[in-house]
Amino acid sequence: MPTLRFQAIKETFNRVPVIVNETERRSAIFGKNVFNETSMRQFLTKDSYKSVMNAIESGTKIDRSNAGHISTGMKEWAIAKGATHYTHWFQPLTGSTAEKHDAFFETIEGGRAIEKFGGGQLVQQEPDASSFPSGGIRNTFEARGYTAWDPTSPAFIYGTTLCIPTVFVAYTGEALDNKTPLLRSLQVLDHAATDIAKYFDKKVTKVIVTLGWEQEYFLIDKALATSRPDITLTGRTLLGHASAKGQQLDDHYFGSIPTRVLNYMRDLETECMLLGIPVKTRHNEVAPNQFELAPIFEEANLAVDHNSLLMDIMEKVADRHNFKVLFHEKPFAGINGSGKHNNWSLCTNTGVNLLSPGNTPMKSLQFLTFFVSTIKAVNDYEELLRASIASANNDHRLGANEAPPAIISVFIGSQLTKTLNELEKVTTGKLSPEEKTDLKLNVVGKIPEILLDNTDRNRTSPFAFTGNKFEFRGVGSSANCANPMTVLNSIVAKQLIEFKESVDKLIKDKKMKKDDAIFNVLREYIKVSKAIRFEGDGYSDAWVKEAKRRGLSNTKNTPEALKAKISKKTIDLYESLGIMSKVEIKARYEIRVEEYTMRIQIEGRVLGDIARNHVIPTAIKYQNILIENVQGLKDIYGKDFRKFSKEQMQLIEQISEHIAKINIGITDMINERKKANIIDSIEERAFSYCNKVKPYFDKIRYHCDKLELLVDDELWPLTKYRELLFTK
Ligand code: ADP
Ligand code: MG
Repeated sequence: MPTLRFQAIKETFNRVPVIVNETERRSAIFGKNVFNETSMRQFLTKDSYKSVMNAIESGTKIDRSNAGHISTGMKEWAIAKGATHYTHWFQPLTGSTAEKHDAFFETIEGGRAIEKFGGGQLVQQEPDASSFPSGGIRNTFEARGYTAWDPTSPAFIYGTTLCIPTVFVAYTGEALDNKTPLLRSLQVLDHAATDIAKYFDKKVTKVIVTLGWEQEYFLIDKALATSRPDITLTGRTLLGHASAKGQQLDDHYFGSIPTRVLNYMRDLETECMLLGIPVKTRHNEVAPNQFELAPIFEEANLAVDHNSLLMDIMEKVADRHNFKVLFHEKPFAGINGSGKHNNWSLCTNTGVNLLSPGNTPMKSLQFLTFFVSTIKAVNDYEELLRASIASANNDHRLGANEAPPAIISVFIGSQLTKTLNELEKVTTGKLSPEEKTDLKLNVVGKIPEILLDNTDRNRTSPFAFTGNKFEFRGVGSSANCANPMTVLNSIVAKQLIEFKESVDKLIKDKKMKKDDAIFNVLREYIKVSKAIRFEGDGYSDAWVKEAKRRGLSNTKNTPEALKAKISKKTIDLYESLGIMSKVEIKARYEIRVEEYTMRIQIEGRVLGDIARNHVIPTAIKYQNILIENVQGLKDIYGKDFRKFSKEQMQLIEQISEHIAKINIGITDMINERKKANIIDSIEERAFSYCNKVKPYFDKIRYHCDKLELLVDDELWPLTKYRELLFTK
């Protein structure tokens, strides 16, 4: 009976690519399964259409009677498209998505049946929510939670189910999901940014946040992936010797996409088009079998939903193509991991990107205001930003000699650095007419032409300005974007509110002109946020030392990084802006801490299991063959056998040594787990898993990987790196 490994390899030899035919133009199918403006116009009454649009644009409530009309229209549309079920689609604090399908089907008197979907069912549902993580919110307060329709993200049909994006809230009002705080932060930032944008253009009445994520992932043959218990249970390989060839030749990045993969991508993109996810870019990434997918940016709430939906669809489509998608941040040791760059910017209802330098000095001053305020916000809250991307998975990337470092810093390029240095010299108080002219002509006015050919890019920066947006690169590939986006929105909102207060105060108290006041405040911001700006190599040891000197945090593990989530500073921030209450903050913190512990715990168990039940027995099997061989040589050569069996004897000994080390490692690791498990405090338990349990992973792995090199390939049961990474 061949091992799972050889069965899987054989299966990959016989793969027939799933052919994908694109018959329709993408523009023709875009949004076909979305209840978007076009379908709403067709299926809704004028009044109910208006009420949805008002809800989207200005957050007004939809009343009961309109909700009834809307649900009827939505149902008609969905049934016409073959939908049989509906679900409230939401993002619980696990980070993934949740759905519970109900049929439209209802029985009525006379043994007849109809399709029914009322306003109440559209607006609010009560999922049995007791099994979602709540960080104690529901235990302490109220046992029930409900989902409520979020009209700003349109309903869509997936398969035969109408999915209605919703928030998930406890009856006591606490948010139990990722979306609610995100929506609150978007609203707060809208108000704060609109107030500032009005300094420059009175017509601005709304500012939206734009997000364009770049999703990295690995694609591994399904049979090969499922032959590995570690990939199946933890999403990554816990052992496996490096392949002789890895990514050193740089021959994968932007290379031609393998046919099987291309078919997968095209199939996936068709699904995305139907669901209105505007995916645009696809390419190979640095590591073998690693790829990236990026959309055209969208309003942030929608972009977050679309990324969650995409990840779900990616897995489903992969299954059709006999692939498994790995979203884990570090599925393979020794080659690049995966991230999800979050490109973030602000856009006014008049269509102006506030982080894009304008073509007049005034527009450029507006750009500088938002640009400098964002830098100052990151400077003041770098720890919270770091915490927003902390997870057991992402620990393998951040600060582990890979993009990007665990130290948060901002890269802006040499030209803008020069501009900020000039602005820093602006005189205190009122500016002389000459100085103002000079500033407008030679400093601020010079920005647009400079940025057009501003090509310097720093790939090692975790937070980089890239011409017309900031790119938050620390976000992990498996993460839900909502949390990092909520943090970024909140800290920038707070900064903009402060900015306005300071400017208004200078105008009122010091009788300054508006632009004088703005220059004065910006100058101070530039001065106090210098520590966060770094243009050099973020991976270098020199930067680690320099960052320490500057007082920047450098937390390399999750339990340490998460502390910033519940600091007084963070609680003040969220409470003052009305984004989260102390209870909501604490709940999220606890969930993250416990999730960390559980992940390390699972990994420890799986590693112990594979090492004891796969690796050691295989090593013994091979050792027995060697022993038999030595015994045979002894039979033939008698006393002289040593002359012919020196190498075999050495191998026998080496195998025994590795087996012993693995056994000791596992026993010690289990003991540490036992000690950790009885710790009451969840923080201390997480630290114990981090500092006492996790260090055994590398030790155990080291000896397993050595055995992989020694043992007969025919006997080795675990699919090897070269097979996982180079099968196309
Ligand atoms: P990269 O070189 O990093 O791959 P791209 O120019 O391809 O950069 O853009 C990456 C992502 O940034 C895309 O998803 C794109 O839609 C997004 N993006 C571009 N402009 C904005 C913006 N104003 N706001 C948010 N995201 C944006
Ligand atoms: Mg990018």
